[in-house]
Amino acid sequence: MQFNALTAHELHDKLVKKEISAVEITEAVFKRIDAVEEKVRSFVTQTRDKALETARAVDAKIGRGEEIGPLEGIPVVIKDNMCTEGILTTCSSKMLHNFVPPYSATVVEKLKQAGAVLIGKANLDEFAMGSSTENSRFFATRNPWDTERVPGGSSGGSAAAVAADETIYSLGSDTGGSIRQPASFCGVVGLKPTYGAVSRYGLIAFASSLDQIGPFAKDVRDCARVFSTIAGHDPKDSTSAEFEVPDYTSFLTGDVKGLRIGIPREYFVEGTDPGVKELIYNAINKFEELGAVCEETSLPHTEYALPVYYIIAPAEASSNLARYDGVRYGYRDESAEDIVTMFMRTRSEGFGTEVKRRIMLGTYALSSGYYDAYYLKALKVRTLIKQDFDRALEKFDVLISPTSPTPAFKYGEKAGDPMQMYLSDVFTISVNLAGIPGLTLPCGFVDGLPVGLQLMGRPFGEGTLFKAAYAFEQNTDFHLRKPNL
Ligand code: GLN
Repeated sequence: MQFNALTAHELHDKLVKKEISAVEITEAVFKRIDAVEEKVRSFVTQTRDKALETARAVDAKIGRGEEIGPLEGIPVVIKDNMCTEGILTTCSSKMLHNFVPPYSATVVEKLKQAGAVLIGKANLDEFAMGSSTENSRFFATRNPWDTERVPGGSSGGSAAAVAADETIYSLGSDTGGSIRQPASFCGVVGLKPTYGAVSRYGLIAFASSLDQIGPFAKDVRDCARVFSTIAGHDPKDSTSAEFEVPDYTSFLTGDVKGLRIGIPREYFVEGTDPGVKELIYNAINKFEELGAVCEETSLPHTEYALPVYYIIAPAEASSNLARYDGVRYGYRDESAEDIVTMFMRTRSEGFGTEVKRRIMLGTYALSSGYYDAYYLKALKVRTLIKQDFDRALEKFDVLISPTSPTPAFKYGEKAGDPMQMYLSDVFTISVNLAGIPGLTLPCGFVDGLPVGLQLMGRPFGEGTLFKAAYAFEQNTDFHLRKPNL
């Protein structure tokens, strides 16, 4: 068995039994990267020396007979929009092509405390804006299941690296679907936690009221372990919530008898690939077989989610991205003779097309005279969307839907049409607007391409999502299949 293809919990057991060393795991992962990275292109940066150093320290600890934690000695990749002290953090943008942060994001700090082995930083759509990773200013990442296709986005590098077994797990960020959609396209498990469950300190802000960090993993158990490690209150993030973080693996009972599952009818309308729909219906049948009670429900404001998102997210982005002016860090146009020209040229050259489009959309929506008509209106509709979920989740423990309307699309297929690209997040965006958790897990294949099933739950109800997901996973084998690279 190739160690890089195992899960974190399998590797942990082998480490504890001394069947394998942390250095061997890390070397296995780098060997795999050497073999497939040319085709997949998940990484913006690799941190080989540091990784081996960490792995050696873990081996020394094991050698001394000390106990190790569940993620200790296990390789991880971090999306390149989370700050890593002393390690390049680019957001896949020319604007930050040379940015080396003086501090680490809280999630990175927590993983470090947990003994995780950071092996590198993953490619993304520039500033996390996109659904295909084609908006990276450096290069496009490819889908390991078919390298003619996109891995999804914006966390495409994080998803592809896990699917290609170039890492054991990874972290991504999700503002409108950027963990769940690529996880679905790449056939891995992904979690967008409840807003406030994971600290955003050190996550480079896109849309602050929507952004959340979460894990990509090879199975539900790993996802629960990683989430247990990164979740929790952080005094450095005023929007992070105070709540008791349980050991989420305690929810992995396999028992969903009596679990109430709602099927929102607005998520099964036209435009969804019939093959995808069929797999979701098969999944619903599977849950019923396992004793869950599935029933149709409605989230009546669903059709407004996409337009509302494309006002709120760009509005917040236009404000968050105002800081990139070439003065203190990142890219600067050196040719300008005065400061205003320097600002202008820096921002014109430093940002790519999609980022500029968002800044313009957002600035427009926030400008005086339009603020009430667009931004304020969008906030009101956001509340209605949230109330739809509150109502549905009073009756149901979990809501079920496709994660994305189609499997992975072809490289270049939607790159010229922003509206088509935006539509690929039509099932994931509402969850961010409502602030609730959403989990995707593999539920089958259409034409050899993986398809994800989305489970949505109550705020801080991640445990219930893990419970449902685990029961499904235990009774299917989709998560065990590997791409042929
Ligand atoms: N694809 C969506 C966008 O482009 C979501 C991105 C994300 O979740 N970061 O905004």
